[in-house]
Order: sequence, then structure tokens, then C-alpha cells
Amino acid sequence: MRADRLREVSESLYNAANAAGCTVPVLVAVSKLQPATAIAELAAAGQRDFGENYVQEAIAKRQELDRLPLPRPLVWHLIGHLQSNKAREAAAAFDWVQTVDRPSLAEALARHRPATMPPLNVLVQVNVDGEPGKHGCRPDEVEPLAAAIAALPRLALRGLMLIPTPHEDLEARRPAFRAAHQLFDDLRARHPGVDTLSMGMSDDYPVALGEGATMVRIGTALFGARPARPAA
Ligand SMILES: *Cc1c(COP(=O)(O)O)cnc(C)c1O
Repeated sequence: MRADRLREVSESLYNAANAAGCTVPVLVAVSKLQPATAIAELAAAGQRDFGENYVQEAIAKRQELDRLPLPRPLVWHLIGHLQSNKAREAAAAFDWVQTVDRPSLAEALARHRPATMPPLNVLVQVNVDGEPGKHGCRPDEVEPLAAAIAALPRLALRGLMLIPTPHEDLEARRPAFRAAHQLFDDLRARHPGVDTLSMGMSDDYPVALGEGATMVRIGTALFGARPARPAA
């Protein structure tokens, strides 16, 4: 059943990319609060990239997955806010951290990235619409933060990540996607390794693709509704 959803979403991404005249984006399957068995099911159907929001939950599920047969190694993205005191665990448990929004966090991740692993792929999370209380750096902080990341040898600067204000009217999210694309173009002109603009979720990915997303993060459309988060 999840394999059918994966096929539907992949087809829809393919069609939306064709309509927008762009390459098909990388699909990150957002598996927060979903059990390891659900991840294994999608992995068996060919899905490679998975996104998790909570470091502890991701580590526990990866230990479970180690005991299940998987067709190939999976690629793990941290897409939730990261507290600095979790940077050590995150630096060893993930292939990508998409939520770097301050230099101190970049430094902590670089310091703790194990020497046996390749550089950690990093996206700068930007708050383009200035929504108060939301994580992400301001647009004018992107370039200084990117420069700080690029100077850290244990990190690989790959691009930008955006969560727009969740307006009910999806078209109202378009200006944020467009502003992020402009910032992405500026960043790419300065930093040769930058190739990733992560934006678009289950409800708004067609709009994000039209505005140049190269990576989408999709949970509900693949897994169905999420179970409630257990009390800590
Ligand atoms: C949960 C989450 C998603 C996926 O949301 P869906 O609406 O279930 O597709 C994408 N990005 C981030 C940062 C998330 O926290």
C-alpha cells in the first residue's frame, strides 16, 4: 500500500517537473513518528532518502532497521530543529542536516563529525517570510553563515532549506518559495558545491517545484497521517 503511494508521488513529481521544465527533484520521505517497519517497506519499494525530525527517535529506528534486510544503504536527513547539545549525536547519525541556522551549530556539527565519515551535507535553513518564532536565519544572514560553513572542512555546504508560513491558500506560499530561489541562485554563484534547494511538502510541492525546488520533503502523502507524538 505504501509502495503504491510511493509510485503515485513519484509519478506526480515527474509530471510536475516536466510541466515546470525542470529536473525531477530528490524525494525525501519524511518518516517522523512512523515505525521502522514502515521505513523498511518504502525502502524495499526503492525509496532511498528519509527525513527525521528528532535525533533520539531517528537513532532508535536506525538500530531497529539494522536488524531488517534492506536493499541498499539509506540516506538520512535531519529536518527538525537541532539544539546544540544534540549536535554530537546528530553529526554521527545523519548524512544531511537541513536545519543549520546559526554559526555556533555549524561549528558544533563540524567538531563532532566523526573522522571516519565523509563530510556532513548541510543546508542553511532560511526564514524568508520573517514569521516570528520560526526557526531559520534571516535572508541577510544566509551568506555569512554559508561562508562560515564553507570554511569548515568536515561540512559540505549543499544549499538552502525553507519551511514557508503555512497559509491555507497554497498560492500565498509562492512568494516565499520564489524568494528562496533567488537566495539559492545567489548562493550557487558564490559556492561551487551548492546544488540543493529543499522546499515543498505533501500539500504544496507542486507550487515549490514551479519555483525551482530540487528536493522535496514528503511525509503524509507517502505514509498517511502521522501517529501522535508520544509524551516524552
Ligand atoms: C513533517 C515535515 C515535513 C513533511 O510534512 P508532510 O505535510 O507530512 O508532507 C516536511 N518538512 C518538515 C521540516 C517537516 O517537519
